[in-house]
Amino acid sequence: MQQYDVIVIGAGPSGAIASKTCAGKGLNTLLLEKEGIPRFKLCGGAVSTSALSHLDFGMKKDLIERECYGARVHFKNHQIEVRRKSRLAILVSRDKFDAYLVSKAVDAGVALHEAEKATSIKPEQSRIVVETNKEKYNAKVVIGADGVNSIVSKYVRDSYKPYELGFCIAAEIPASNEEVDEYIDNAIDIHYGITNFGYGWVFPKEKHFSVGVSGLLPSMKNSRDIFIAFIKKLGFSTDVVTHAHLIPAGGYEREVCSDRIILVGDAAGFVDPYQGEGIKYAFISGKLAAERVVESYENDEFSKSALDTYKRACYSLFGENLKYSLRLTKLMYTYPNIFFRLLSSNKIVLDKWFEIPAGRMEYKEYIRWLIPRVPYYMLKTLLPL
Ligand SMILES: Cc1cc2nc3c(=O)[nH]c(=O)nc-3n(C[C@H](O)[C@H](O)[C@H](O)COP(=O)(O)OP(=O)(O)OC[C@H]3O[C@@H](n4cnc5c(N)ncnc54)[C@H](O)[C@@H]3O)c2cc1C
Repeated sequence: MQQYDVIVIGAGPSGAIASKTCAGKGLNTLLLEKEGIPRFKLCGGAVSTSALSHLDFGMKKDLIERECYGARVHFKNHQIEVRRKSRLAILVSRDKFDAYLVSKAVDAGVALHEAEKATSIKPEQSRIVVETNKEKYNAKVVIGADGVNSIVSKYVRDSYKPYELGFCIAAEIPASNEEVDEYIDNAIDIHYGITNFGYGWVFPKEKHFSVGVSGLLPSMKNSRDIFIAFIKKLGFSTDVVTHAHLIPAGGYEREVCSDRIILVGDAAGFVDPYQGEGIKYAFISGKLAAERVVESYENDEFSKSALDTYKRACYSLFGENLKYSLRLTKLMYTYPNIFFRLLSSNKIVLDKWFEIPAGRMEYKEYIRWLIPRVPYYMLKTLLPL
């Protein structure tokens, strides 16, 4: 049985950054990925400026399919567009973007085993055994970076409840770059009021649009009909190949560690429930988990109680932000005719919101800024003053 210091399961953004950080600190690190790399991952591919600030390497220019400087927001018959001078996000295709992150992990010394699926994990007294469809390995600790359908999480916490999950259905709609420019250019298109706890999106990409709808899982039973009606209304062809994927909602208190196991990224539920941004939290949690593992090696301490300092680090860095994002989400979807109406008709409200992806504001501050202004802005919207 081959032995490693740490085994990271899943080579998405969280696994790539976790494994890269472990290897960079001298740990003998195995990264297991069930797919061949590059692999398809359904995603809008918007990587915020704030997310990018957590990487210690630059982005390759040819991975940036578009840059995002603003948004057009729709709700019922209201529509508003705001753009900024500074970049809010880059738009990427996840197959190439994730492969680039993994290449950085491999450069740092990670042993990558792709097309190899972890099938079971057995924590033992002094090690943890990971069995795949090909081999058996052991290490002192496992980092579960295996996404929303994580098998590693089963050793740590209960499954996500349906109300903690979003369901997304999306397609890549081919278009010339001129058509993309004409439709939206360097901004994103967001449509509220289509689903419960979710939205429709049109993101510009290289020679295609990423178009999709998301909503709370229990309310998305007729998701394909919702999606087809959405793209039809926008004038896109309905002859498209759709893909569906779950997304966990962050902001809930969950266990993320057990003896010799740490969860990161979607496996830990670290996604902003309001926007569905997960890549940023995958980067941060991947790095924090690796730092915890390095510390565990120094003290030879891999119990849940030792690893739980990672949970506390996550909660102190971004847990409150996700909690307030969940509060804002509940508030906005409870009173859509106030909040989405404001967001789609008041430039200041939307422009202020951009401070979040820009990394200059947290949800708590945005809520504190917004709430006292609601009556005035609402009045201004209804009776232009
Ligand atoms: C439709 C949609 C749109 C989204 N749009 C955005 C967006 O625009 N911006 C943003 O920031 N976030 C977005 N997200 C969220 C984002 O995709 C996730 O938060 C992010 O991918 C989480 O990264 P991760 O590394 O934790 O998991 P993943 O990216 O899901 O990676 C998990 C990896 O583990 C592998 N794996 C799974 N099981 C095993 C196993 N048993 N053995 C080995 N390997 C395994 C998988 O193949 C996969 O490669 C979107 C999500 C969805 C569903």
